[in-house]
Amino acid sequence: MSNYKVKLANIKGFAFDVDGVFTDGGVIGTASGDLIRVYDSKDGFGLRMAYLKGYKTAIVTGGSSESIKKRFLGIGVKEEDIYLKSRDKVPDFLDFCKRNGLEPSEVAFVGDDLPDIPILKICGLAVCPADAVPEVKEVCDYVSQFNGGKGCVRDLIEQVLKVQGKWVFDPVAYSG
Ligand SMILES: [Mg+2]
Repeated sequence: MSNYKVKLANIKGFAFDVDGVFTDGGVIGTASGDLIRVYDSKDGFGLRMAYLKGYKTAIVTGGSSESIKKRFLGIGVKEEDIYLKSRDKVPDFLDFCKRNGLEPSEVAFVGDDLPDIPILKICGLAVCPADAVPEVKEVCDYVSQFNGGKGCVRDLIEQVLKVQGKWVFDPVAYSG
């Protein structure tokens, strides 16, 4: 974990798992079969900042709820960069990189559980929340001090944007 700060300067894109990263992993099952998730607004704002500053962003989740898509479309993630029902996550990650002209080494990925490990091993900056499973922590460049759904996304984005001089809030751009 010692030299992850060197990698912050090279990041041009971000990709994320959802459950256990943007949420604490909890879901509420409804009678209709949909699942209700609780997101952290500070994580959402961090992702919005990354989008506004021109970083490419992707969601790669095994989840299937349309509500996931709506949440991230609202933040600015492009529809084609939201991968739902992703079982073998690497092809989806590589598809995102290719379509956006990014090398995997230029993309930071945040995951918390075993299905995320293959991406974490090939991305440019492997990150997990403090409450990720031990196998994930082992392969990560950086383990956030924040848990899933409690600021780990914001932590990563803020560090990258600050190192690159992009953590500057512009209310005009934000409202657009
Ligand atoms: Mg997860």
